[in-house]
Amino acid sequence: MRHIAVIGSGPAGYYTAEAAQKAFGDQVRVDIIDKLPVPFGLIRTGVAPDHQSIKAVSRRYEATALTENVRFVGNVAVGRDVSIHELIDLYDAVVLATGAPADRPLGIPGDDLPGVIGSAAFVGWYNGHPDHAGLAPALDGGGAVVVGNGNVALDVARILAKAEAEFAGSDIVGHALDRLKAGHAGDITILGRRGPHQIAMTPKELGELGELQRAAPVVDPADLPPVEADAALEPGVRKSVTHLRDFAGRPASDKPIRIVFDFFARPVRIEGDGRVERVIVERTELDAAGNARGTGETYAVPAHLVVSCIGYRTPPIEGVPYDEKLGRFANEDGRIVPGLYAVGWARRGPTGTIGTNRPDGFAIVDKIAEDTHGDSGKPGRAGLDALLAERGAEVVTFRDWQRIDAAEVARARIGSPREKFVAVEDMLGARG
Ligand code: NAP
Repeated sequence: MRHIAVIGSGPAGYYTAEAAQKAFGDQVRVDIIDKLPVPFGLIRTGVAPDHQSIKAVSRRYEATALTENVRFVGNVAVGRDVSIHELIDLYDAVVLATGAPADRPLGIPGDDLPGVIGSAAFVGWYNGHPDHAGLAPALDGGGAVVVGNGNVALDVARILAKAEAEFAGSDIVGHALDRLKAGHAGDITILGRRGPHQIAMTPKELGELGELQRAAPVVDPADLPPVEADAALEPGVRKSVTHLRDFAGRPASDKPIRIVFDFFARPVRIEGDGRVERVIVERTELDAAGNARGTGETYAVPAHLVVSCIGYRTPPIEGVPYDEKLGRFANEDGRIVPGLYAVGWARRGPTGTIGTNRPDGFAIVDKIAEDTHGDSGKPGRAGLDALLAERGAEVVTFRDWQRIDAAEVARARIGSPREKFVAVEDMLGARG
């Protein structure tokens, strides 16, 4: 028997469990430990609430979760209820699948002003993550700046721009929908420090910005390279650039919100009296290596809300080797130290789609198969249960989650798949 503990119940965690089942059959026990009482990590609290088809992948994880040899151990925090070293003593393999839930800092003067937030917080707010439920972003028409040219920037801009009716069928949480209904951010400026050919936005997601009821995308045709240059682009980027060309060719819209793509523009300072009022932006150009280089020309973009969407970091865990520069655990193909592994964003950083984590999960199980031999005599889950009982931890099982899930579905507003609980105590209370 092999005993595996996976820390984190998002895609990387469940794909690792699925791979372990495929590799070891009934000769493995996998405990998926999560600090929240609810599973699925990024699927629940990262994927946009109006992208329900992406969220549907959690059904696949449910199939894994409901097998005999995989357990969900919710409401158990590593570092609070159990240490990483205790887990290494108890299990043959401990796999960190903790994702990258912390924002990379902007690192410019004024980035600590009220109203400047990272995308992890903003996305967590509209997705009902307990840590960010109290965010209350300014939606007073004073303008919003979204920093970054990736898919998270698109998610943030789209959610800010949507009219109430466009959230039909989504599971955006009530507190966010109420606030978005009561006001709007005003014009939304998406800052890209490089140009249209360097965007990290995928075509489907970019195309959605062109279909919004009350908001219109604005692209300056002068920012676009000659159309012939698109031929050299990778097909996905080329398709995205085609959307930008479409936006640039549209006549001025009378929709009340403009989503302005400001390319070759990097924020250098954020100013305001006690809260953000404007972002000072420097015009850039590309150097020979394709990096952004400041030109010295600056201008101000008014904003009462700034959301930086410039990538994420994995929070360090005490005693676990960490790569500060890359913002993830130091590892060699997923191996950190004997008995300890990393998978998904915690291993390779915050890139790729949900599905990218599947081969990741299978690859880490191959490593575990090479490194372990089955009968180490480690206690695994029995040892964890004893430790947690001794500490009075209130463990949430997958069956408990199914009751919380049913309660969320039962309290959904009409047309919505669920109304999430956003406080941990409410989640615990819904177990019946
Ligand atoms: P991302 O794709 O890495 O994009 C980050 C953006 O931030 C880049 O445009 C980058 O520009 C910019 N940036 C980085 N540092 C900056 C700085 N200091 N100042 C200004 N700009 C800066 O990251 P992401 O948007 O957070 O997405 C993470 C992953 O999740 C991606 O793989 C993404 O595709 C995926 N995702 C997918 C979906 C979906 O499929 N619907 C939705 C959300 C996220 P440079 O290129 O110049 O570095």
